[in-house]
Amino acid sequence: MAIFLHHGDLPATVRFTGSVAVDTETMGLNLQRDRLCLVQLSAGDGDAHLVKIAPGVDAPNLKALFADASVVKIFHYARFDVGMIKRNLGVDCAPVFCTKIASKLCRTNTDRHGLKDLCRDLLGVELSKEQQTSDWGAPAPSAAQQQYAANDVLYLHELKAKLEALLAREGRTELALATIAFLNTRAALDLAGWADEDIFTH
Ligand code: MN
Repeated sequence: MAIFLHHGDLPATVRFTGSVAVDTETMGLNLQRDRLCLVQLSAGDGDAHLVKIAPGVDAPNLKALFADASVVKIFHYARFDVGMIKRNLGVDCAPVFCTKIASKLCRTNTDRHGLKDLCRDLLGVELSKEQQTSDWGAPAPSAAQQQYAANDVLYLHELKAKLEALLAREGRTELALATIAFLNTRAALDLAGWADEDIFTH
C-alpha cells in the first residue's frame, strides 16, 4: 500500500477506469463558508492519491475525472463531497455511488451508518477518526493526516460490493440507484439555500 501526495491537480499520468473512491477534507462542514483542502482518490487497489487543493487554482485533470461518464465516483456521504466539489471546482460528479445512502436503505437493523461503523460491521476493519477535525488548511498534510485521509478511500470499493449484495437481497437496488441519482440535485439545493429544509414535506 502506498500514499501519493500531489499538489494542485492529479497528474495526467494517474488514470482511473471503471470506478474510483473519492473523499474530501475541508476547513469545516459549511458548504458556503469552508474551502476544499484535499481530495483523496483510490482505485480500490490499496493505493491512495491525495491532491492538495490550493485556493483559486484550477485542477483540470481532477475536474475531467469527476465529469467522466465512464468512471463511477464512490463516496461515503456523497451529498457533502459532491456539494463541496461543485462549489470549489465548478463541476458535477457523475455518475456517483454513496455507501451511506446504500447502507441506510439495506441495513435497517441499525442506525449506525458512519464510515467507521460500516468498516467495522461489514469488513472487520477498525478505522481511526482521530485526525477528522485537524487543520487541513496547511500547505501540506502531516504524515498522520495523510494516513487518515487515505484510510477514508481505501475501503469504499469493498463496502460498495458488500452493500450492493445487501441491497439486492433486500430488493432495494432500484430505490438506492434512484436516490443516489438525485444526489447532484440535493447538493444543488444545499448550495442554493435549501440545506436545512425538506422540500418534500407538506
Ligand atoms: Mn474524510
